[in-house]
Amino acid sequence: MDFSELGEFGFIDWIRCSYPSSSPSVIKGIGDDAAVLSFSNDLVLLITTDQLIEGFHFRLGETDGEKLGRKALAVNLSDIAAMGGYPIGYTVSLGIPSKRIPFDFVDSFYRGLTALGEMIGVELLGGDTSESGDRLFISITLLGKALKNKVVYRAGGQEGDLIYVSGWLGEAALGFHLLEKGISKKGKENIFFRYLCPIPRVKEGQLLAEKNLPRAMIDISDGLLADLNHLLEQSGLGAEIELSRLPLSPDFQLWTKEYGFDPLSLALEGGEDYELLFCVAPEKSKEVEKLSQEVSLPFTCIGKLIRGTKGIWIKDAKGVIAPVLPKGYNHFKSR
Ligand code: ADP
Ligand code: MG
Repeated sequence: MDFSELGEFGFIDWIRCSYPSSSPSVIKGIGDDAAVLSFSNDLVLLITTDQLIEGFHFRLGETDGEKLGRKALAVNLSDIAAMGGYPIGYTVSLGIPSKRIPFDFVDSFYRGLTALGEMIGVELLGGDTSESGDRLFISITLLGKALKNKVVYRAGGQEGDLIYVSGWLGEAALGFHLLEKGISKKGKENIFFRYLCPIPRVKEGQLLAEKNLPRAMIDISDGLLADLNHLLEQSGLGAEIELSRLPLSPDFQLWTKEYGFDPLSLALEGGEDYELLFCVAPEKSKEVEKLSQEVSLPFTCIGKLIRGTKGIWIKDAKGVIAPVLPKGYNHFKSR
C-alpha cells in the first residue's frame, strides 16, 4: 500500500479500522469533525485538532502573523461549530524555524490567535514548542462541550432531507488562486480575507443545534463535494445538488469572470470556506430561514438527500442530472 493509492481519506479509514476505540466513554472517535466523549449524564466533551504547515497550508509572504494566528484557531473552531458545540479552550504546539522566523512574527501570531479566542470566549491552555529546521508548523487542539442530546454528527441525515449551506461558496479558493497568481488585493480585500482569515460559524452551529434543526452537519474544509461525500458516507445516502442554487456572491462572480476562473469548480471543489453544510427535515425549512434572518447569514438550500443511488448527482441549469466525483482537497493525491 502507498499513500498516493490510499489518499488522505483512505489513510484515515485505515487508522480507524486498525485501531478502533474500545472505551465505552468514547461516543465518537475517528470519523467526525470532533471526537465526542461522555463527560456527565447530560454533557459531552468535544476534541478536535488541526495543523497548518508552511508551504502546504500557507506561505509567509502571503499572510501576516496576526491573520495566521486567527486562521489556526478558526479552522479548529469550525470543527466544534460543525458539531453544534461550545468551544472551551485550546493548546498550541509550534515548530519554529528560529533562524528564519523573527520573534515579532510569532508575537503577532499570538495576538491574532488570542484576539479571536477572546471574541469567541475560549482560553489558551498550554502547548508545546520546538525548533523545526526549515518550516513553521502550527498545531492546535481545541476542547469543547455540548449537551449530549444536541450534538450533531456527520451521520443522521434521512432521505428527503434538504441540504443547506451557510454563507457563500468558493471565495476562499478564489482568494488562494488570486494570491498564487500575484493579483493585486485592491478592491477584493473581502475575497482574500476569506482565504487568509476565515470566520468560523460557531454561533450559527450552536443555534442550529439548540433548535434541533440539522440531522447531520459538517464544515466545509476540503470543498463542498468532498465534505458532502463524507456526510453521505456516514449517513448512508446519496445527494442531488442543483447548480443554480449554489450561493455565489456578486464579488465572487465578478472576479472569477475577470480572471478566467471557473466559478462552479471553485464552489464545488475549492476548499477552506469553513461554511456549515447541514441536512434538515423539509418541514423545518421555515425555521431554518427564520434563523438565517436572525443571524444575518444566508442559509441556502442547495439540494436534497436521496436513497437508492449512492454518491452525488448534479442537476445543471437545463435540468440534466449526472453523477459527479467528490473531488476536493486530498493530501497524498494530486487533484
Ligand atoms: P476535518 O476536515 O473535519 O478536520 P479530517 O478529515 O482532518 O477532518 O479528519 C477526519 C477524522 O479523521 C477526524 O475524526 C480526525 O480526528 C481523524 N484523523 C485525521 N488524521 C488522523 C490521524 N493521523 N490519526 C488518527 N485520526 C486522524
Ligand atoms: Mg471539519
